[in-house]
Amino acid sequence: MTTTIAQPLTAAQSARARRCPLCGKRPNRPCQRKPSGDHLARYLDAYTAGKLTRAYMAMVLGELVVIHHGAMIPAGAR
Ligand SMILES: [Zn+2]
Repeated sequence: MTTTIAQPLTAAQSARARRCPLCGKRPNRPCQRKPSGDHLARYLDAYTAGKLTRAYMAMVLGELVVIHHGAMIPAGAR
């Protein structure tokens, strides 16, 4: 018998665990499949809910050239 130990979610997983308020994509599904990514709106929603830190959001926003709630955050960029 194997035992599964629950691992804490990474910040990116915490954002993806929420329904996207922009496109309505279900939790744990990327907003965009290829390349995999999520709308910034999802991160803002997770931040507002207290799931992401201010420092993490600053890092995510620092990667963007254009800041818009529809900006796509690539899965490998975090
Ligand atoms: Zn979305």
